[in-house]
Parts: sequence; C-alpha cells; structure tokens
Amino acid sequence: MKSDVIIVGSGIGGLCCGSLLAKYGFEVIVCESHTIAGGAAHGFAQQGFQFDSGPSLYSGLSISPSANPLKQVLDAIEVELPCLQYETWGCCLPEGSFETSVGGDQFCQVLSGLRGDRAVQEWRTLQQVMAPLKDAAIALPPAALRWDWGAIRTVGRFAPNLLRHGGQMRRLSGAFQPIIADNITDPFIQNWLNLLCFLLSGLPATDTSAAEVAFMFADWYRPHVKLDYPVGGSAGLVAALVQGLQQQGGQLWLNAHVEQILVEGQRAIGVQLRDGRTITARKAVVSNASIWDTLRLLSPAAVPAAFRYQRQNTPPCDSFMHLHLGIEATGLPPNLACHYIVVNDWASGITAPQNVVLISIPSVLDPSLAPPGRHVIHVYTPGNEPYALWEGFDRRSAAYLQQKQLRSQVMWQALERIIPDIRQRCQLTLIGTPLTHERFLRRHRGSYGPALSAATSLFPTGKTPLAGLFCCGDSTFPGIGLPAVAASGMIVANTIAPIDRHLAMLRQIGL
Ligand SMILES: Cc1cc2nc3c(=O)[nH]c(=O)nc-3n(C[C@H](O)[C@H](O)[C@H](O)COP(=O)(O)OP(=O)(O)OC[C@H]3O[C@@H](n4cnc5c(N)ncnc54)[C@H](O)[C@@H]3O)c2cc1C
Repeated sequence: MKSDVIIVGSGIGGLCCGSLLAKYGFEVIVCESHTIAGGAAHGFAQQGFQFDSGPSLYSGLSISPSANPLKQVLDAIEVELPCLQYETWGCCLPEGSFETSVGGDQFCQVLSGLRGDRAVQEWRTLQQVMAPLKDAAIALPPAALRWDWGAIRTVGRFAPNLLRHGGQMRRLSGAFQPIIADNITDPFIQNWLNLLCFLLSGLPATDTSAAEVAFMFADWYRPHVKLDYPVGGSAGLVAALVQGLQQQGGQLWLNAHVEQILVEGQRAIGVQLRDGRTITARKAVVSNASIWDTLRLLSPAAVPAAFRYQRQNTPPCDSFMHLHLGIEATGLPPNLACHYIVVNDWASGITAPQNVVLISIPSVLDPSLAPPGRHVIHVYTPGNEPYALWEGFDRRSAAYLQQKQLRSQVMWQALERIIPDIRQRCQLTLIGTPLTHERFLRRHRGSYGPALSAATSLFPTGKTPLAGLFCCGDSTFPGIGLPAVAASGMIVANTIAPIDRHLAMLRQIGL
C-alpha cells in the first residue's frame, strides 16, 4: 500500500494536518491506534450519555476570518461546525463564588465587588498595556508559517503588519510574569492571571509565554465576543475534521497502531503497522504522537543522538484525574453554567496537585448529549496530577481502586460546591487516572505536553533531522490547547504543500 502522506494519530493536530493536505491535493492516510478518532479530544458514549474525554472550552469558532487556527483549518477545508454560544462561567475561588464572562467589562464588576476601585483601575491599565501586545500577537497568523525557505514568501505578505507591531516583539517573546509585575499590585488579580496562565499552558505566569496570554486577550476581550461549544461536543469537532479529510479523498484507518516509522538512509519512507501491514509514503510521514512517543517509533540508529537526547529530556507536564458522570437532573437550578473553575487555595501554588479543578456540564447547552432529564458532567484536575503517584500500579489491583477513590475525592468535593447532592444523583460514574490517560490516549506518562518555561527554553518544533518526517500536536507548538495544536498541523501541511497552493489557501480564508 502507498500514499503521498501518512499521518500517525488522529488527534486534532493530525486531523488538521491530514484534512488540509487532502485539500492541497495529496493522498493521505491517517492511522489511528484507537477505535475512536480524536485523541485527547475524542468523544465517547455510554448508557446514552455522550462524554467529552478532554476539551470543552472553545472560542473563535463562529467568526470568519478568525484568529483561531482551528477555525482557519475548518474554513480552509470548507467544513461547517455548528456551535452553541455562551459567555458566562462560574468560579469558586478562595475569595468566594461568582460568575464571570468573556468581554471587556464584566470582570471589572466582579473586581469592583471583590477588591474595590483600585483593583478595577489596575485591570483597566493592564487592558491598555495588552492592547498593542494582542494586536502584535495576531499580526502574523500561524497559517502563514511553513518549516522551509518558502516562508519568506508566505510570511512576507504580513511584513507590513509585522513591522507596525515590531516594537512589541521583545515583550511577546518572553514570559508573562514581568508584565504582571510591572502593572499589577492587587494580589487577587495576580492570582487570577496566574490561574489563566496555568489553564493556557499548564505552567504559572513565570513560565507562560506572553504571546500566548496576548493571544487569549485578543480572543476573549474583543467586542461582542462569545464562547463556542460545538454541537455534539468534541465528537462534533472530530467528525467535522474527519468529514473534511474524507470529502477530499483522504482515509482514516482506525485500530491501526503504528509500530514503527520506517527510515532509509536519512529519510522516513513509511510505517509498519502492528498488524504487519506496511504503508509506503511517497512524500512524508507526519507523527501526531507526542514527541516522546514518536521517539519510540524510530529505531535508535535512525535519528541523531543529539536530537534523541533533546526530545527525551524535554520535561512533560503532569497528568490528569477525570470524573465522567451521567446524572439525574431533576430539581437542579435552571441557571447551571456550562463551566466552573474551582481553586482550593492560592497559597499552595497554582500548579499544586489537587488544587485546581475544572467542571464542565455541556448538556446545559446541548441537551442532545444526555437522555431527557439527565446531564453529562466531566470533572478533571488539569495537568496537575503527578504520574509518579500512579507509576507501576496494576490496574486490576485493590490498591489501584483505593488510590482512585482517594485521589478522586477532590473532584467530588469541588462538584459538591455546585451540586450538593451530586453523589446521590449519579447513574453512571467513571473515574480516570493518569494510567487511563496514558492508555487511552497513547500518551507518554499521561501528559499534556512539554513543561518548558517560555523564559528560558525553546519549544520543540514540527521539524526533525530526517527528510520526510514531521511532527505535529501539542508537544510541537507552544500553548497547549486546540488553537496551538491546529496551528502545528497546519504549519506541517503547508510545509509539504507547494507555495502557490499555500498562498491560495491564505487568500481563501481571508488572510
Ligand atoms: C482533560 C482535558 C481537557 C482539555 N481542555 C481543553 C479545552 O477546553 N480547550 C482546549 O483548547 N484544549 C483543551 N485541552 C487540550 C487539547 O485537548 C489537546 O491539546 C489536544 O486535543 C491534543 O491534540 P494532539 O493533536 O496533540 O494529539 P492527541 O490528542 O495526543 O492525539 C494523538 C493521537 O495519536 C494516536 N497515536 C499515538 N501513538 C500512535 C501510534 N503509534 N499509532 C497510531 N496512533 C497513535 C493516539 O491514539 C491519539 O489519538 C484539554 C486536554 C485535556 C486532556
């Protein structure tokens, strides 16, 4: 069997890359180890409940042109993704519980109530400081990038824009913390910004890139902004990308675990599947497996030792605990939010294990996700569960079950702040651990992506020392999350495509 391009893995990065390559006119086969496409963003159904395994917070999907690279891919492959819109989420913080919204003004009301006028003034000042930074952060869309010299032409289109914002680039290229230090004295706002950084990158503000935060400001504080939730949940997004792949002749092979990336000389020439089949790649192999998992697919002699050493020694973020619940909804308040953020304690540090808990109840927006009169709930600790606590456990042992019960209590307690009788309402309870995450998502140590400080380290890229081998996904582009992952896939697809088709794509999506 032969194909122009073989993609290893159908995470959002792999699907964005594959669907765009198919649109560019290449033959594409996406090999997915799992029986369901989507990786960390796959959806799964049990007993009539449709769960998101991972993401549920989306924005910029209902406007075109959008600064969100995921929407840019959807536009490029000409696929509609119907979304439901909302603007408010709930917060349970050490200071108390409140609702807050995207948009420039509502957070000032929250601040006024919690911290007074001086804090409001500081927030307003920060918004002014961020205004030129957010313009600079979107001056060069990642869609224009490619990992070769052709970038001179594709990026060149944006040169006037870049020159206009050139003065901001130095601040954007560092961490966000100095911007906080220069402008904010209020401890609550400092903690709040640190929380946003952690949610964006899995790291505190000292290590989160200012460009990532500026991009978020550009997205969340633009006029008339709303948040999006794809109809059908993350499964709806995955289905849209698969549709884009298949309508251009691309293929998705499920249950197709890649055992090895085949290398001849200094070039990747195909893949060997676990079931013995071999696929030859005429142009390229793109790995959407994480950088650590990709190394396992390459024989030690195939890549230079320095590259192997650098990738092997890239530290991963911690892992996750999950609760997926199907619950009886009768008698619940009608104004439940789709999302809640719970922070137990600022003093222990935003990245401390069991400190931040996220809750998502997407059936309040899309009732089709649950049987009538029920809700689906996903609670998780976002990238703050140490894998080391789980390493070596036998998943069938009593000790593992006990550890699951113990480490899930913090999620139950967080949810009890929203739904006090939650434990009596559950009709379906699934508890996931770092081992579940590692096994189902085929991810090294159940991780989220690299834990690399923007202040001191360069992020891995999609390029490798082997001709014809690229990587995409959340370990190859800063800003763990779907926009970054989509950007990583798009840049690799652009690199493989001829420049004229890349330029045509930019014109088509209005850039
Ligand atoms: C709980 C959770 C909540 C999140 N919430 C949000 C959110 O609200 N908003 C947001 O923007 N982001 C969120 N994220 C982040 C986002 O979901 C991820 O960054 C993104 O989905 C990762 O995509 P990826 O392309 O890197 O690949 P992955 O999702 O890691 O997919 C890689 C795929 O490759 C497959 N694979 C691996 N090895 C092989 C092999 N050898 N052969 C074949 N296939 C293989 C895997 O099975 C998998 O399907 C969340 C993540 C998690 C875990």
